[in-house]
Amino acid sequence: MDVRRRSTNKPTTPMKMGVVVDDEKEPRASDALPLPLYLTNAVFFTLFFSVVYFLLTRWREKIRNSTPLHVVDLSEIVALVALVASFIYLLGFFGIDFVQSIFRPSADVWAADYDKNHAEELILDEDARKVPCGVDCAPPPPQVVETLASEEDEEIIKAVVAGTTPSYSLETKLGDCKRAAVIRREAVQRVTGKSLAGLPLEGFDYQSILGQCCEMPVGYVQIPVGIAGPLLLDGREYSVPMATTEGCLVASTNRGCKAIHLSGGATAVLLKDGMTRAPVVRFATAQRAAELKFFLEDPKNFDTLSMVFNRSSRFARLQTIKCAIAGKNLYIRFCCSTGDAMGMNMISKGVQNILDFLQKDFSDMDVIGLSGNFCSDKKPAAVNWIEGRGKSVVCEALISGDVVRKVLKTNVAALVELNMLKNLAGSALAGALGGFNAHASNIVTAIYIATGQDPAQNVESSHCITMMEAVNDGKDLHVSVTMPCIEVGTVGGGTQLASQSACLNLLGVKGANREEPGSNARLLATIVAGSVLAGELSLMSALAAGQLVRSHMKYNRSSKDVSKVSS
Ligand code: ADP
Repeated sequence: MDVRRRSTNKPTTPMKMGVVVDDEKEPRASDALPLPLYLTNAVFFTLFFSVVYFLLTRWREKIRNSTPLHVVDLSEIVALVALVASFIYLLGFFGIDFVQSIFRPSADVWAADYDKNHAEELILDEDARKVPCGVDCAPPPPQVVETLASEEDEEIIKAVVAGTTPSYSLETKLGDCKRAAVIRREAVQRVTGKSLAGLPLEGFDYQSILGQCCEMPVGYVQIPVGIAGPLLLDGREYSVPMATTEGCLVASTNRGCKAIHLSGGATAVLLKDGMTRAPVVRFATAQRAAELKFFLEDPKNFDTLSMVFNRSSRFARLQTIKCAIAGKNLYIRFCCSTGDAMGMNMISKGVQNILDFLQKDFSDMDVIGLSGNFCSDKKPAAVNWIEGRGKSVVCEALISGDVVRKVLKTNVAALVELNMLKNLAGSALAGALGGFNAHASNIVTAIYIATGQDPAQNVESSHCITMMEAVNDGKDLHVSVTMPCIEVGTVGGGTQLASQSACLNLLGVKGANREEPGSNARLLATIVAGSVLAGELSLMSALAAGQLVRSHMKYNRSSKDVSKVSS
């Protein structure tokens, strides 16, 4: 049955709004009659007019004979009853319909209203059909209904399209972030002629990203979040949220977590905690640049400099200053702790304080840039790999030979050999910088996205050297990951958004730690390292056992993906 045709058909019988129009299906009172409807009508018509004729004849006789009309015999009583009964029937059948036709809107209007209000109901009704249905009669995809713009919004959309109202000014102009996003989205669609249907708009708090996370929003991208774990780390269990569209990644990390758990858990040590920022300043001569270098690196000046720096925040604490010179240009690498914040904003403010202070004694100093890339943020750089940036963590576990065989489906010797040839020798041949691992960046990035970290910092945060060694006479496996640059925070940036904050909450590290500022971010860094350890174990085992291609074929090629992990 064609649902659209049916929905626009004129109703042929009286009905209430909301009742599906279908003469063939709808049960009717006439179904209960012993005769067909037209015969029943004929009987009652005949009866009605017969008794009217009979009674009028009797009354005429009574009037002629001067008999009172109210004196009735049995035949007249029967005739009266028949008259009332047939009248009620005929009134019910034709009269109510007639009365309703006066007050009811025309059938076309009714049908149009019905279609509008019940389109969804009709589609659902159609979906519930019992007849076999092939591809040809598959229900049409639900249509995306864009919000209709009001006249005022329509004017603003036109102004944005024409360029007279800048798109970026909508939030300020309207004072309503959601409305600004709706208008901008419509303007973008009109300008580009391309549809954004499929990019969700509803269900997001646009106010929460204003001035902090994203400018000129038109919607948001959905990324599924899976849970790996429990990860047993330092005696505590963690369910690790991973946001990814790479099949197998969560499943693989989960398998690694299981192997670690069955072997008694992993332990992590935080080696260092300090964010860096390195401005570049220029002098007229290399000699002057060197003078500033000696001044900054002189321990006698550190207290003064740190006092100036630390004014930027109650959580920023200057740790070290290291300088590098290129001719008359000086690169000053400041390193400071930043509490539970990842710390880029905080350290930038502190560095600005120092530069302002230095201008008094080094007035010939020309500040070229607050960041001179010796920091080094979001770029692979040896300085990070060697000196560390953010949190430096080492994490280890002793995996029993039994678990290697039963859970990881390989053996200790194969893992150790593969690690040496792939993660160490292979990466050395490739000239890797911090890439002495199988796929640390997979786990780092998935956790970063789930927990509101800056995903671009996966570049240096994924620096990792994975070591594997046979111990206990070759029976068991000692595995470790050393990661010098895990840049994470639990306050600031995207961590405060609802979804990301929920993932941090799951790990027990949401927001600022009031008792011990910085401990939430440090714990998160160790969880990242522990999860990387699990991911390394599982992928290396799959490779050692020759499972990688098989699992890719099974989970990647067949619409789902479980053990495929790009390495
Ligand atoms: P980032 O420096 O990582 O970009 P922000 O500077 O934007 O982060 O956010 C940190 C903000 O959070 C600062 O204003 C800081 O004062 C505040 N804050 C509150 N509690 C803490 C804490 N425990 N650790 C770090 N910052 C905190």
